[in-house]
Amino acid sequence: MRLGIISALHEEQQGLVEAMEGPYKLTHGMREYFVGRLWEIDAVCVLSRIGKVAAALTTATLVEKFGVTHILFTGVAGAGDASVRVGDIVVAESLVQHDMDASPLFPRYEVPLTGLTHFLSDHHMALQLADAAHRFLEDDFALAVDPGERAVFALSGPRLHRGLIASADQFVSDKDRLDALNGALPGLLAVEMEGAAVAQACFELGIPFGVIRTISDNANEHAATDFMRFVKSVAARYAFHIVRQFCLGWQKAGVTQASRESAGT
Ligand code: SAH
Repeated sequence: MRLGIISALHEEQQGLVEAMEGPYKLTHGMREYFVGRLWEIDAVCVLSRIGKVAAALTTATLVEKFGVTHILFTGVAGAGDASVRVGDIVVAESLVQHDMDASPLFPRYEVPLTGLTHFLSDHHMALQLADAAHRFLEDDFALAVDPGERAVFALSGPRLHRGLIASADQFVSDKDRLDALNGALPGLLAVEMEGAAVAQACFELGIPFGVIRTISDNANEHAATDFMRFVKSVAARYAFHIVRQFCLGWQKAGVTQASRESAGT
C-alpha cells in the first residue's frame, strides 16, 4: 500500500512533511511531491493547489507517476448546513460537483458519460477516517489547539459528521447561494473546491479514496474573515493529528490483517 495525501493549503501540509522519515522531493507539473514514510506508512504528500482541475491533475499524477494505491484528501470547508459548526469535522461518504450542469443533455449535477451525480468514497477508508477523527477529538484536541485560539473561534465540543460534500470552482460566501445548494442537495454537510474532483478521478482510475474536512467558515458573507488565521492555528493542527491517527490505525489494521492471514483465518 502506498498512500497519497493531498492537502489544499500549505499550512495543512507543512507538519506532515516535517514528520516524514527519509523524505525526498520530486517536482513535477508545478507541484512538489514529498515521498517518504509517515508513521510506518509508505506515503506521498502533495499540495493540490485550489480548485477542481488542480485537484484532478494532482490525483492522476499521484496514481500514474507515483504509484499510490489509496488517496486521502485533507482540507477545510464551509458549513453546508446549520447543524454543522466551525471547528466540526466532516468525513465524506459521497461527493457531488455542484457546478456541473450539462442539462438538458444530462440531468443536473450528472457528470456526463459516468451516469453519476454522487461519487462514493471508499467505505473502509471513510470508517478509518471517522475513527481517526474521533480519536483526535477525544485524545488530542485539548492539547493540540491553543486555548486562546479555541476561544477566538468559539470552538467548544467540536463534532464529527459523515455524509455529503459538494465541490465547485467557487468559494461560497453568500447565504442565499448556500441556502439554494442546501435545498437542492439533500443531506449536504460541507462545501469546498476539490473533493468531488478527486472523487471522480479516483472513480475513473479505480483507486479507493477518502476526504476529510475541518469546517472553517459558514459559507456566508463572513466566510473570508480570519480564514488564514483559522487555517494556521486550528485546521493545520486538526489535519496533522487526524492523519497521524489515521496512519496509526491503518498500520494496526494491516498488522491484524496480516496476522489473521498467517494464522489462516
Ligand atoms: N484565502 C485563501 C484561498 C482559500 S480558497 C488563499 O488566499 O490561499 C478556499 C479553500 O478552502 C479551498 O481549497 C476550498 O476547498 C476550501 N473552502 C473553505 N471554505 C470554503 C467555502 N466557503 N466555499 C468553498 N470552498 C471553501
